[in-house]
Order: sequence, then structure tokens, then C-alpha cells
Amino acid sequence: MVPHALLVAFPLQGHINPMMQLAWKLVSHGFLVTFLNSDSNHNRILKANTPNSLHDNIRMISVPFEFPVMDTLEGIANGMEALGKDMGPSVIDRVVREINARNEENKLTCIIADAWMCFGLQSVATLHKIPLAAFHTALTSFFAIYYFSPSLVSLGILASDGTPKKDKTVKFHSSMPALHSGDLPWLWAGEYMFRKGIRMAEEVKHIKWVLFNSFLEIEVPLVETLSKEVGVYPIGPLIPPEFLHSRTSTKVLPSFWKNDTECLQWLDKHYAHSVIYISFGSITVLSEKQVEELAMGMEATRRPFLWLLRPDLMKGSEAILPADFLERVRDRGCIVSWAPQLEVLSHPSIACFVTHCGWNSVQESITIGVPMLCWPYFADQFLNRTYVIDVWKLGLPLNANSEGIIEKGEFVKGLEILLESEQGLEIREEARKLKIIAFWSHCFVSGLSLSCREGPCFVSFCLL
Ligand code: UDP
Repeated sequence: MVPHALLVAFPLQGHINPMMQLAWKLVSHGFLVTFLNSDSNHNRILKANTPNSLHDNIRMISVPFEFPVMDTLEGIANGMEALGKDMGPSVIDRVVREINARNEENKLTCIIADAWMCFGLQSVATLHKIPLAAFHTALTSFFAIYYFSPSLVSLGILASDGTPKKDKTVKFHSSMPALHSGDLPWLWAGEYMFRKGIRMAEEVKHIKWVLFNSFLEIEVPLVETLSKEVGVYPIGPLIPPEFLHSRTSTKVLPSFWKNDTECLQWLDKHYAHSVIYISFGSITVLSEKQVEELAMGMEATRRPFLWLLRPDLMKGSEAILPADFLERVRDRGCIVSWAPQLEVLSHPSIACFVTHCGWNSVQESITIGVPMLCWPYFADQFLNRTYVIDVWKLGLPLNANSEGIIEKGEFVKGLEILLESEQGLEIREEARKLKIIAFWSHCFVSGLSLSCREGPCFVSFCLL
């Protein structure tokens, strides 16, 4: 009998990717993995990827769920509540029974669920006499913000709806950098997300194994503090090491959009460290003016660029670029709707990454050693930017004007500092150093996967 894990992914691209990387890691340790997704994502993935690009020992299954439109505060709350029902404990219980009935020889030996999907799952795992682990796909500090928030409410630093009461900055713990009060991760979705996050941390802290898609060395003081109270296991970076050496990986992340691999050949034509890579992940939405100014900024830099312009990047319409823009940048610009980002970042021609600071993008950039220009959009991305710029010193901010637009001059200036100045040299040197640390961290976690740093590791718990 082989160990068999049920992985329950939160149905968004930025959560599915690290969950799939965890699946690859489990498979490399001899696991069979059943990967549960929502059917709307499942169908998108099947449409966008060739079936044989997905791993043999990972069975993709799905249950009916599609996020309702989440463009209002009410919509967000409704979406999250619907998710808790349609992919909640009773559904997972049914899924476990069905899998076990079909696999007499290979019954499930554990459940690993996204931290935001763990509500009520401990009782399901207990019922089936298998262990449960939570997998937090963001930086450990993001979890810590919600974990420490109730004490900040008691101290009168935050109001009960999460609004900062006193200062311009909020410090959640002495082991974390202060956050500007406008950068708190729930502000985009108000009180609902504040309460939901606190409930998530409350639920997760009772789970014995809380795996983090982060690595110890970038958050040492916090992990040490938290691990006195919660079973914290930073198991990253999960990015397969072959991406650190070459781009010949056979692994493909299950994307919602078809990967444009021709951009890799386009990159081949450029000098080392010459191309600006611009991507805002899978959910960011920009206004027409923001896209236009960004395009003008790219034109003004006179550098080659690869721009990920998702078909739905712009609210309400396909992205509209300035007149004749494509013609003017024809010789040095490549625009695609979705690319294999790990291969792109690890291509030698990439000079820097203009990013929205989604945690996967940031961690991929750290692991591959690419410096960043940061333009966060929502949720944890402002926190990630604080770490990238103030703590790890791996990048620079792009500051928006009062209308939320990054003006072309700001863009050109940021690139010049990052790629040509003394300060930029120091940033690039930090990126190089942290890449090496990330690599050793990866080897350490992989090498000791059967007897992890402090106590048994997630792999051995799955075998219990
Ligand atoms: N990604 C990709 N191709 C693209 C853009 C993004 O493969 O063209 C991947 C990226 O490597 C990352 C994920 O999509 O793994 C985006 O996650 P992130 O946390 O950065 O941002 P989110 O989409 O959650 O805002």
C-alpha cells in the first residue's frame, strides 16, 4: 500500500500552483496524490493544458463550484460562504468515502487542505482516522497578521472591524515589520475578510501540522515565535530545482490559460540580463489609464520587454493599448496572454521582474534570483512588498500618483535605479545571495524530508 494524500486546493490559480508543487514533492516521495479542485477550474485546466503534461501519479478530481462574481463586498462574502458550503466538510467527507471505496488497496492516508479550506475538516479527518494538515500558500507573516489581530483589537490598536485606530503604521509583532495602515490585507474586502482571516487562523492553530509555502531563512524570528504556539512547518521553496539550473523541466503547472511557449524562443534572441518581465498574476485588474501609462513607460525605457497581458487584465474590456504602440515597439516588445512564468524568470535574458507582488511570483523571483519592481494590487501583496523592499532588500517600489497610476516617468526611473545605479547593484547582489540560501533551504527540506528540522516532517506524518 502506498501513501495516498487528498489535496484540497482553494480554487484560484495562485493557490492551485503551490498546491500542485506540493503534489509533485509528495509524488517524488512515493505518494499517490488525489488533487481536488472546483469543476469550473478543472475544466479550464483541461482545456488549457495537454492531458499528458500533468503527472501520472496525480489524479485530478473536482466537485461543482464556481465563484460567483466577486466585484462587490457582498459578492466577496457570498463567494466565500458558497465555497465553504460547496467544497466544505460534508462534501470532503463524501469525496473521501468515494475515493476509499474505489481504492481498496490505496485508501487515503492523509488530507492536506489549503488553510482557507480547513473550516470543519478536522472532524472529517478524525472520522476517517487519518491526519489533516493545513497548507498556507502565502508568507507566514500573512497568517501571523490574522493570528495576532485579536490581541491588537484588545489593545485598542485595531477597531473590532479591523480599522486601525491610532497610528499610521501597525506592528503585529516585534518579529515583523510595521505595516502602513493603508496596506492591511483585508482593506480591499472590509470587515468580512478581517473576521474570516481571524477565524482561519483560529481554526488552523488547532491543526497539528501547518505547512507554509515559505522558507525558514526569510522569516526566522517570526517562525521561531509562532512555532511555540502553532505547528509551523515552512516547507518551501517548493519550486522544482530543475528550474534553478535549466528550463528543461517536464513539469507543467495546471494553468487556466494556454501557455505561450513561443515567448521563450523570443527570449533566446536577447542578451543576458536585458529583458524586463512584466506580469500581474492571475487576478489583478487594471484600468485603461493604468495600462496605457504602463505601455508608454515601457516604450520610454527603450529596453526589450516581455509583458503578460491577460485577456481579462482590464476591467470590462480586452486591454486597449495606445495607438500604434505595437508597431512602435515591434522590435523589442513581446506581449502574450499567459506564459510559463518559471521558465521565463529562469531565462538568462531576464533582467528584472515588474510584479504585483503575489506571493508565488515573489517567491519564484527570490528562488531564481531576479530583482523586483513592486506594484501591489490587493490582499497580502502590500505585505509582500514590504518584505521585498524593506526587509530582504530585493527590489524597489513603483509609487502610484493620487489616481493610482504609475506614471511613465516613475517606471523609467525605477528601472534605471534598479539596473544601472549603485543601489541597484546592491539589490541585485542581495537577490543573488538569497537565491543561494533558497536553494540550500530547498535541499535541506528535501533531504531531511523523513526527519524534519524540529520533529517529524510532513511526509512522515502522512505515513502515520
Ligand atoms: N503565472 C504563470 N504565467 C503567467 C502569469 C503567472 O505561470 O503568465 C503563475 C506564476 O508563476 C504564479 C501564479 O501564476 O505561480 C500567480 O500567483 P501569484 O501568487 O503570483 O499571483 P495571483 O495570481 O495569486 O495574484
